[in-house]
Amino acid sequence: MISNRIDAASNGVFQNITTIQDSNAPKETKELINKYNLLTDSLMNTFTDIDNKLKIFVGQSNDMSNQMNPLAEASNIINNLSYIYQFKKEIQLDKTKFEIYRRMCQIFHNQFNLNNINIVEITNNETAEKVYQLGDLDFCTKIILRDPQECRVSRNTNNVSSVDFQNACPCFESNDYLYVCIDIEVGQNSKIIFNFILKDMDEMNNFKKNQLFIESYIKEVAPEIEVKRLLQALENSALKDGLTGLYNRRFLDEHLKKLIPRAKREDLSIAFLMLDMDHFKAVNDEYGHDIGDKVLITFANTVQENIRESDIAVRFGGEEFLVLLIGVQSEDDAIKIANKIREKVAENEIDVYAGSTLRKTTSIGISMYPKDSTSVVKVMKFADLALYEAKTSGRNQVKRYMESPSDNLELF
Ligand code: GH3
Ligand code: MG
Ligand code: MG
Repeated sequence: MISNRIDAASNGVFQNITTIQDSNAPKETKELINKYNLLTDSLMNTFTDIDNKLKIFVGQSNDMSNQMNPLAEASNIINNLSYIYQFKKEIQLDKTKFEIYRRMCQIFHNQFNLNNINIVEITNNETAEKVYQLGDLDFCTKIILRDPQECRVSRNTNNVSSVDFQNACPCFESNDYLYVCIDIEVGQNSKIIFNFILKDMDEMNNFKKNQLFIESYIKEVAPEIEVKRLLQALENSALKDGLTGLYNRRFLDEHLKKLIPRAKREDLSIAFLMLDMDHFKAVNDEYGHDIGDKVLITFANTVQENIRESDIAVRFGGEEFLVLLIGVQSEDDAIKIANKIREKVAENEIDVYAGSTLRKTTSIGISMYPKDSTSVVKVMKFADLALYEAKTSGRNQVKRYMESPSDNLELF
C-alpha cells in the first residue's frame, strides 16, 4: 500500500494512505503513515497553489484542469512559458518579418501539431497582403486580398472559430475543414490575421487545449512585426523618392558600392540610361505643378514597366532619371530597351482637365560599363553627354555615347 502510494506520488499523484486503526499495528508504522499523509497534503496544497497562480499568470481558467495532475500541468505551463521567452529573444534578432513568421509557424507545427496556417497583414483597414503560408491549404485569403472587409475576424474584436458558430465566416470556402482565426493589432488600423485550418474535431480540441500558448506567441510577435514594418517604411522613405516611388540618389550611391564589385566578379555589363523629359518646364508653366507631378508619376511608371525587376530606376533630379540595365547582353539591346521606353512615354496620354489630354516625350543618353570606362563617375558623365546630344539633335531620341577626344579634357 505504502509502496503503491509512493509510486503514484512519483508520477505526481499525491494521495493519503488510510490510517491503520488496528491497535496492534506497530507505532512506528502508524507514525510513518501520519507523516506521509501530512507531507502529501502539504505538497498537494503547494502544487495546487503554484498551478493556480501559473494559470492566473497565463490567463487560463481553473476548470480546464480537471484531468491532469497539478505537477504535470505546472510543468507544462512553465515549459511553454520558457519556450515563449526564448522565442521572444530569438525574434528580436530576426532580420525580416518573413523570418519571424517562419520561426513562429515552425513552432506551431512542432509544438502544437498545426499543419495549415495562413497569415495575412491588413494595413490601414484597406490593403491586405498574404505574408506566410504553412501547408497547402488556403480557403479564404484570396477573398481577403480582394476586400479585407470581407474577413470576419478583421471586422470583429473576437476570434472567429467554425466550432462556435457554423459558417461563422462567409470567406472560408470549405465545408470539410474547420478553422480558427485570430487577429492582433499592429499599430493604428493595421492587423495581422492568423488563419488556422484544422482537419477534424480532434485537431480542433488539440488547438483549443493549446490556444492560450498560441495566443501568447502571437502577442509576442505583434510588437516585433510593428518594429520591422516601421523600419521598412523608414528605409523606403529614406531610399525612395516620395513622388514617383523610384529609388533616389542616396540609394544609387549605396547600391553602386555593391553593384560594381559584383559586376566585376560576374563579368556583367551595365547600361547607364540617362533620361530627361523634353520641355518639361512648359507643363508646369501651362498647367501648374500638380499636372507636372502627374506627368512625372506616369513617366516613372512607364520606365518601371519597361525594364526588368532586376534593373534599377532612379529619380536622379527633378525630371531627370537614371536607369541601370544590369547584365544587359549588348549595347544594341540597351538601345532597343531605351527606344521602347521612349516610344511608350510618347504614347502616354495624360488627362489635364476635362476632355483634354497631354503628351510628352523624353530624350535618352546611353553609356556602357565597363566598355566606356571602369569608372562609374565617368560612365555617368558619358550618359549625360549622350543625353545632351539627344537634346541638341532634336529631342525625343536615343543617343549612344560616342567618344570625343575633348571629353576627358572638358569634364575631368
Ligand atoms: P529640356 O527639353 O531641355 O529638358 O527642357 P525642360 O523644360 O525639361 O528643361 P529644364 O531642365 O530647364 O526644366 C526642368 C523643369 O522641371 C524645371 C522644374 O520646374 C521642373 N521640375 C523639377 N522637379 C519637379 C517636380 O518634382 N514637380 C514638377 N511639377 N516639376 C518639377
Ligand atoms: Mg527636361
Ligand atoms: Mg532637366
